[in-house]
Amino acid sequence: MHQKKRLGVLTSGGDSPGMNAAVRSVVRSAIAQGIDVFAIYEGYQGMVEGGQCDLENPRRVAPDAEACIRQLHWYDVAGILHKGGTIIGTARSAQFRTREGRLQAVRNLLAHDIDGLVAIGGDGSLTGAHLFRREWPELVAELLERGEIDTEVAERHRHLTIVGLAASIDNDMYGSDMTIGTDTALHRLTEAVDSISSTAASHQRTFVVEVMGRHCGYLALMGALATGADWVLIPECPPEGDCWEEKMCQVLQAGRESGRRDTIVIVAEGAKDRHGNPISCEYVRQVLEEKLGEDARVTILGHVQRGGSPTAFDRNLSTLLGHAAVQAFQTATPETESVLIGMRGNRVYQAPLMHCVEQTHAVSQAIADGDYAKAMDLRGENFKNAYQILHTLMQAKPSTPAHHDLKPLRFAILNCGATAPGMNTAVRAAVRLAIDKGHTMLGVEHGFRGLIEGHIKELNWLSVRGWATTGGSELGTSRKIPQSKDFYAIARQIERYDINGLLIIGGWSGYQAAYQLYSQCETFPAFNIPILCIPASINNNLPGCELSIGADTALNNIIEAVDKIKQSAVASNRCFLVKVMGRYCGYLAVMSGLATGAERVYINEEGVALTDLQKDLATLITGFKQGKRVGLIICNENAHPVYDSDFICDLFAEEGKEVFQVREAILGHLQQGGDPTPFDRIQATRFSAIGLNFLIEQAQRPSPTGAFMGTEAGNVRFIDLGMIPRMVDKEHQRPKEQWWMETAAIGKILAHTAPTTQR
Ligand code: ATP
Repeated sequence: MHQKKRLGVLTSGGDSPGMNAAVRSVVRSAIAQGIDVFAIYEGYQGMVEGGQCDLENPRRVAPDAEACIRQLHWYDVAGILHKGGTIIGTARSAQFRTREGRLQAVRNLLAHDIDGLVAIGGDGSLTGAHLFRREWPELVAELLERGEIDTEVAERHRHLTIVGLAASIDNDMYGSDMTIGTDTALHRLTEAVDSISSTAASHQRTFVVEVMGRHCGYLALMGALATGADWVLIPECPPEGDCWEEKMCQVLQAGRESGRRDTIVIVAEGAKDRHGNPISCEYVRQVLEEKLGEDARVTILGHVQRGGSPTAFDRNLSTLLGHAAVQAFQTATPETESVLIGMRGNRVYQAPLMHCVEQTHAVSQAIADGDYAKAMDLRGENFKNAYQILHTLMQAKPSTPAHHDLKPLRFAILNCGATAPGMNTAVRAAVRLAIDKGHTMLGVEHGFRGLIEGHIKELNWLSVRGWATTGGSELGTSRKIPQSKDFYAIARQIERYDINGLLIIGGWSGYQAAYQLYSQCETFPAFNIPILCIPASINNNLPGCELSIGADTALNNIIEAVDKIKQSAVASNRCFLVKVMGRYCGYLAVMSGLATGAERVYINEEGVALTDLQKDLATLITGFKQGKRVGLIICNENAHPVYDSDFICDLFAEEGKEVFQVREAILGHLQQGGDPTPFDRIQATRFSAIGLNFLIEQAQRPSPTGAFMGTEAGNVRFIDLGMIPRMVDKEHQRPKEQWWMETAAIGKILAHTAPTTQR
């Protein structure tokens, strides 16, 4: 008789936000594929303790409610997507580190007939999982020899499949660009440092802030970049020389003299000097007090960084990885190595688990050996570049001319289109990095309108102070796209201000405007300068770019609002229809739907048919009749010209009125506002740094080109402006290819209703 496969899922080690989303995704993806899923409560400790189950006849005995291994059903994981921590508990288990403990764990898994495990945790947990799988055949043979299991059980369980998901707020795992929980920790850290900065500025104080990261400086480095901090200390790159304290004090002192009111030093908890001596916050504080007479305070952020509701990124990352983990379990054979499912270049990526663990340990080893160049190399290019960029941006003033490029150039920078959080961050980075290389940066106010009218002024190092963290557009923006009558005026301004290159940070209208100039460069020789568009739009509707600046902030704005809306509706038999921005692009709708567990997402790309509405209505009515208490539908603002959100609300309210109520929530411009998320700040800084190098390089050429910046599999690329018409659906103002469409299908599987067997 064919029996269903059985999969165990556990969370282990330190908890991290997003673990619940991963558990939900594993459970529902597995059930949708006909697999029975068991939660192993309290990590490996629960696996050792097991539960009430008959080893002789596992499928006939129901585990008791206190058992550490229990089957999970579809609705057991409802309502957990937005919760921090892990509902199935986690622990550090000393017993599992012993052979006897692991033998007991095998007994317990066999008692539940479990064929594979999805282990969600840090490198320790994943190492344990890998060793367990390697030892498994030997432990099963021992139980057979002892007569505790029969040959049929031993034969059926000759191998254990292991799939690992890296969950750690430190982002220290090789094999995944981001680990589950890191983005949320970065949010907590950034919020805290932003808050500290305002009080520091009021009192002209210095704060030394300790952040998590024993062997990994990711949180400290990216947190410093995102908050515009003044100094950072990380384990991978201890400060150079024996007098690093002097150097730090000089830079901070120069900052004060230039008028900076707040000073923030970020210290990773594992920071060390070049001799391997730990650098504590208290030590840094004393140095600042003694050498600078600073009124310095220490703040240790501690477990605040681990807690709270996961961000949109962490929810979606966990969901996609959890889904892929079940696929990996399904396709595994006895010969398949244990794998880690991670994210590389914005795509789900699978790699041998042990290789990832070994590479992860190699960084810690390099740090312990004092081989810091190797440690930085192992962290990767983005990490190294971020460190370099941060060191330039932290300076109180530009570096000395000796380091400058030969020919000083003059660039103009402008924002275009609707504001996107992160625009200011991008401008600040471009201005400072350009000035540091000896070039001049001219700020154009209010986009192309300002360029036509000549509202142009030189920006200096201090004029962009504080722009790293603020939303909106300090330069001012507009949707103006130049027409034929404007070209002459633009050409005149370019000549008048001797502009050698144009940097446009904006959305759809910025791209259209750049294309206009590009198309006219034969008629107007002044337009023969490098023109570069850096993607900044909350809609994420720009060609060639996977994630534009501002989209992450908008997504988080949406999910925060939707979480509150859902909470308000609990116990009221209400279905909310939330209308989100995006114009004709469904990115925000699909991703916010995935992150909030919406039952249905309507987007223009898929259209809305009357038959869909009837089906969805019937599903809602059935759901509410069966005890559902709250419904959630997300609708893109232009999902359908006739069946729009008002229509759908009226239809569902009328037809469902006996069973549930309907409310519409139009989120409007709150989606566009607020300070940029850490991701948007980091992305904006990175794009500006790379974009600026492109402009400088092009400006030295006899025939420079115009381009827009994109990313493919996470790597930055430059695409000729002439490609725009071929890459976009002009009528719907979106790219012809949208990578995220495939995730819409996963959202549908996880958030719809339970299969009939689970109701
Ligand atoms: P974090 O990154 O938060 O520290 P982690 O998964 O690395 O998470 P650890 O405490 O290192 O946390 O590991 C969690 C558990 O995994 C341990 O308590 C232990 O039960 C198991 N484990 C770790 N390493 C091994 C090992 N080498 N052999 C067997 N089990 C292990």
